[in-house]
Amino acid sequence: MTDLVLCESLAAARARLSEALVAAGRPADDARLLAVSKTKPAALIREAWQAGQREFGENYVQETLDKQAELADLPGIVWHFIGPLQSNKTRDVAEHCAWVHSVDREKIARRLSDQRPEDRGPLEICLQVNISDEASKSGVSLDELPALAEAVLAMPRLRLRGLMAIPAPAATAAEQRAPFARLREALKGLQERFPEAPLDTLSMGMSGDLEAAVAEGATLVRLGTAIFGERHTR
Ligand SMILES: *Cc1c(COP(=O)(O)O)cnc(C)c1O
Repeated sequence: MTDLVLCESLAAARARLSEALVAAGRPADDARLLAVSKTKPAALIREAWQAGQREFGENYVQETLDKQAELADLPGIVWHFIGPLQSNKTRDVAEHCAWVHSVDREKIARRLSDQRPEDRGPLEICLQVNISDEASKSGVSLDELPALAEAVLAMPRLRLRGLMAIPAPAATAAEQRAPFARLREALKGLQERFPEAPLDTLSMGMSGDLEAAVAEGATLVRLGTAIFGERHTR
């Protein structure tokens, strides 16, 4: 992908997000765009940053660290870790990322809180929910979500911001919306239960289902392919 193509696809992604928001009867700036750059070179992230993009999502710890080192000169860049997280990698993420979207177990949360450096603000957390109840998928079940949220809210170096999900593929627009609606309801349940908590984030919607997610209240959409093109390798 060339610089010019990236600028165009980023502008198109922003326009697509605003249009989806307006179509949903929401303000055109009511949700943010997270540029998911996994497997893509640091040079493309730099281009996106020059075009005004600030928040980037990565899935693999070593790849994240390598890109951060290469892009350390870019002020204001915000790194979101959105991939599966093993306990032996929590320290790198706690030290080097601003957000983690994939917390689905108390043990991982505890390590992130313990390992978050004192000189950085709290780590912003979304709990990943297995919203389509797939046996093979990561994510906490809706049943276990309130207990995990309560535990995370008590952890001093974490700030619980909301929920993330990757629904099972769906054929129709209505089928796409159903799991996002469940995630929205789940967040509402937590907001009622924990009114003091800063629960303002619904991380949902990717290149194939952004409109459905925005219609159900997404506040942070995670777009990879739509911005950076198809992924071929890891
Ligand atoms: C890869 C990935 C995305 C982006 O997916 P696209 O379909 O390329 O937009 C979003 N969220 C997560 C958790 C991912 O792993």
